[in-house]
Amino acid sequence: MTSASRSPLRGSRSTLTQEELVNSLSWLVKMRWVAGGGVLLVTWFSAIILDLNVPTTSLYLLGLGLLVYNALLRWGVGRLDAAAFSNTVYEWFVRFQIGVDWAAMALLIHFSGGIESPAILYFLFHITIASLLLPHDRGYLYVALAPILVGGVALLEYSGVLRHVPVFTPARYADPLYVAGILFFFVSASYVMVYFSMTISRRLRRRENELAALYESVQATTSTLDLTEVLNRLAEATTQALGCKGAAIRLLDKTGSHLAVAGSYGLSEDYLDKDPIDVARAPIDQEVLSGKTVLVPDTSCETRLRYPDKVASEGIHCILIAPLVGKRGPIGVLRAYGIRDHCFLEDDVDFLSAIAAQGAVAIENAQAYQMLEYLDRSKSEFVRIVTHELRSPVQVAGSLLNVLSRGYVGELNAEQADLVGRAQRRIKFLQALIDDLLDLAAGKAEVMATAERGLVSLTDVFEEVRARYESPAQDKGIALQALYPDEPLKVWGDRSELDRMMTNLVSNAVKYTREGEVRLELERTNGSARVVIADTGIGIPEDALPRLFEEFFRAKNAKDLQETGTGLGLSIVKDLVKRYDGEIQVDSVEGEGTTFTLMLPLAKNDANALEK
Ligand code: ADP
Repeated sequence: MTSASRSPLRGSRSTLTQEELVNSLSWLVKMRWVAGGGVLLVTWFSAIILDLNVPTTSLYLLGLGLLVYNALLRWGVGRLDAAAFSNTVYEWFVRFQIGVDWAAMALLIHFSGGIESPAILYFLFHITIASLLLPHDRGYLYVALAPILVGGVALLEYSGVLRHVPVFTPARYADPLYVAGILFFFVSASYVMVYFSMTISRRLRRRENELAALYESVQATTSTLDLTEVLNRLAEATTQALGCKGAAIRLLDKTGSHLAVAGSYGLSEDYLDKDPIDVARAPIDQEVLSGKTVLVPDTSCETRLRYPDKVASEGIHCILIAPLVGKRGPIGVLRAYGIRDHCFLEDDVDFLSAIAAQGAVAIENAQAYQMLEYLDRSKSEFVRIVTHELRSPVQVAGSLLNVLSRGYVGELNAEQADLVGRAQRRIKFLQALIDDLLDLAAGKAEVMATAERGLVSLTDVFEEVRARYESPAQDKGIALQALYPDEPLKVWGDRSELDRMMTNLVSNAVKYTREGEVRLELERTNGSARVVIADTGIGIPEDALPRLFEEFFRAKNAKDLQETGTGLGLSIVKDLVKRYDGEIQVDSVEGEGTTFTLMLPLAKNDANALEK
């Protein structure tokens, strides 16, 4: 698994790693405060209390030097923390610190008795730290520096180039057997120690990488409900988590007898262009579908492959296949492909199984969502057909009642006029309901084809709707204030849809306001049009707010009014806003008023666009 590869999916991983690295460096700085203080304290103790023959000035300078250098490093770590930095910067920073630390350690050993120094063992701490922090493939190389430094000090003293500091008597630094023995044990202990720490930290880092990769794949696959997207993201996340060539997902068809490619990443069109696999004739897939994760370590030796030629020409050397198991049994397989220099390890088997397990959940969720959308569209289509059929008889009934009420077939007495009036009100409601249902169904079925779309001036639509509601507002004694720019704010869409959006909101504002004002605002804000429709009306009870955009929902205080309503207007608005990639927000206090705020993305200047 390479930590160097970068992609959008990896974004959060590098941040996690970097955070961890900065933490390690901060920890190192803390340790160095202890080391610097320790040198000063032990020097004082050895010279004053134990009365040992130590070079106090040199040792005090060394301790102070460590503290000063550490203060500088601390400042450096703070800067690394603030800025995004690459792993290379980090490695050089660590190498530099380790270099200075080890030189200081060599000096300490020299000042405290050379090869006889009891501090020599402390080098082992430095070796452990270096092997944990530096890249693992070069750990042994770095650790060679420790015996070279210690051996160098011993040899320089032995040969008389450096003056030996005689802390202990009788001195043994000139005894070749003693020097060689100590060096031997020191070298072997160093290597054993670095081996232990590198093995442990390698395992830990691997686990950490796997966890981060799993987390990323969960995030990538669950952040959408679009099935194709889920499948492709799952394939991409698998490829990156395992650091392999590519991955593919094959899903079982309805009969459960064939596996067809449903999503992939990193594989050629030619390789993917294969017929669905007949499970009855694919022993490997049968094994996988029975719940096992299967590893094909070398494709050239595997006789059970269905298309060995295609596998070879794609350069695939090994394949790891995990079952995708849904709530009611297997739904497909997840395959990861490696090229020649890549071999899957035992750990990868568990890892792919874990990715497949969460992937299966994401796939089933997306499938369920797709099914819901399909059902919703079918329902809307049904509603559309029924309401369409209802429209003309209702219109005819309405016209007939108009004929009656206007007295064209004879004057009506008071009682008859009242009855006809009531029937007219009912018919009017029925017409509104049919219109709303048709609008809603049209929105769901996306009847408005993209061909009908063009650049529409939202400012014009806004002005038209305002003008339409001027007299109804006046009739109710409500002030209708409007504030909008001179420039046409253009939206890419359909004029009647935008009109419907505005009309629904403005008509509600007028309908649910008994006194005061309705304020309409339109303005440009960072590439979007912001529409505000605020009123001083009856407001919306707090408990009704979460259900406001549901089909047929009407709040109790609205139902208590004389005004009729279908409870469909806001669902139509919500569907339209979604289709325009916009946002709608409502703020309301019961008894005080309501404000709807609509954000609609403005069209980017498009010279070829048709002005509608
Ligand atoms: P309708 O107005 O036909 O009932 P809508 O879908 O347009 O249906 O609105 C749903 C409900 O939201 C209304 O019944 C009403 O309770 C509430 N509502 C919408 N707009 C307002 C508003 N401006 N003031 C108060 N209540 C509102």
